[in-house]
Amino acid sequence: MKRWTLTFSIFLSVMLAAFAVAGDSSHLLREIEAEVPAFMSTWERIVNIDSGTGDAGGLAKVEAVIVQRLNELGAKVEIVPAKPAVGNCIVGTFKGTGKTRIMMMIHYDTVFQKGAAAKRPFRVEGKRAFGPGVADAKSGVALILHAVKLLHALNFTEYGSLTVLFNPDEEESSLGSRNLIQEVAAEQDYVLSYEPAEGDIVTVATNGIARVHLTVKGLASHAGSAPEKGRNAAIELAHQLLQLNELGDPDKRTTVNWTVLRAGQKVNVIPDEARAIADMRLSQSSELQRVQRQAEKIVQKHLVPGTDVTVKVENRRPPLPRNRASDEMAETAKRICREIGYQIEPAEMRFGTDAGFAYNPAGDKPAVLESMGILGNGYHTRDESAEIYKYAEIDSIVPRLYLTVRMIQELSGVRP
Ligand SMILES: [Zn+2]
Repeated sequence: MKRWTLTFSIFLSVMLAAFAVAGDSSHLLREIEAEVPAFMSTWERIVNIDSGTGDAGGLAKVEAVIVQRLNELGAKVEIVPAKPAVGNCIVGTFKGTGKTRIMMMIHYDTVFQKGAAAKRPFRVEGKRAFGPGVADAKSGVALILHAVKLLHALNFTEYGSLTVLFNPDEEESSLGSRNLIQEVAAEQDYVLSYEPAEGDIVTVATNGIARVHLTVKGLASHAGSAPEKGRNAAIELAHQLLQLNELGDPDKRTTVNWTVLRAGQKVNVIPDEARAIADMRLSQSSELQRVQRQAEKIVQKHLVPGTDVTVKVENRRPPLPRNRASDEMAETAKRICREIGYQIEPAEMRFGTDAGFAYNPAGDKPAVLESMGILGNGYHTRDESAEIYKYAEIDSIVPRLYLTVRMIQELSGVRP
């Protein structure tokens, strides 16, 4: 368990040597290094509590840990049920002496079933930590809690308000927390989101997620005695899928992939209904309407006469489009990281996250920045056999805590 301590010492010595002139950054780095054992202990504790989306008992246990920490730090804590999802949103607020309103947010549900933590508890191997949800997004929960603790220890209160928001349903499209995220984000100047970073990046654009539903109604008939009397919905669905296979637009980073198909109940009956669902990703909200219009036009052309075809685009999560405010925040993050010799770059992400709900397409506030969390890999997969690919990079704890603490100082208008 001591290997990572050694790793930190080496990491820190290198950074301190390189930036011996930057007195303040080295002082802050020492404070952060001293915080790492407590960070590891919080991280281990919450990874070892299963909190899959919908797991009321597990979510309540993680909620209790978060609420207790926030109370200890003197936050005003609000618990908001995330109906229709299971569990609660936790909103903690710290009042400061300045003007800037800043929010940090992350989800505390995971994609893992009950029992995953008992089978594969938190463990450290070399420079990596493993366990269910270790990166996505328990690392973000620990990072927010300990960044707040560090700011508290530094007596830093120059923000106007510092809000932390934890939601329990992100892995199922944030159905019960999206309104609250939008509401609270609308009151902020800046929103930092703590999904893990896949590399030395911060994210300035995320994809939106939608679904395209295709439904064909036909007419049932016995496949042996009177197939000619039926109207085969499955055949029409197959025809439509071939026609609808090019709805994406690479130039706009829109993808549409048909992934779920359903037709027929019995082998001797011509199916009277067939359905398909496509996964759609988009970086511009206008693509929702474009795909809907284009698909409606295409489905007019039938193969099986007398079948009825409908197509409907369902918006599940809006994108964080590339925008100037996010780019500016990324530049600030980049400059802060340079103080400790850590190079990061702004990146665009193909996944969808809650950053899309925080972003306000109608105005330039709040500025939203994603992937403020620690480095992790392979986090967006439910495949348990791929667990080996899900890890978090321990060496990124110190620089990422540094980034957050300094970011909140800078956004509050304070340069130490
Ligand atoms: Zn996540």
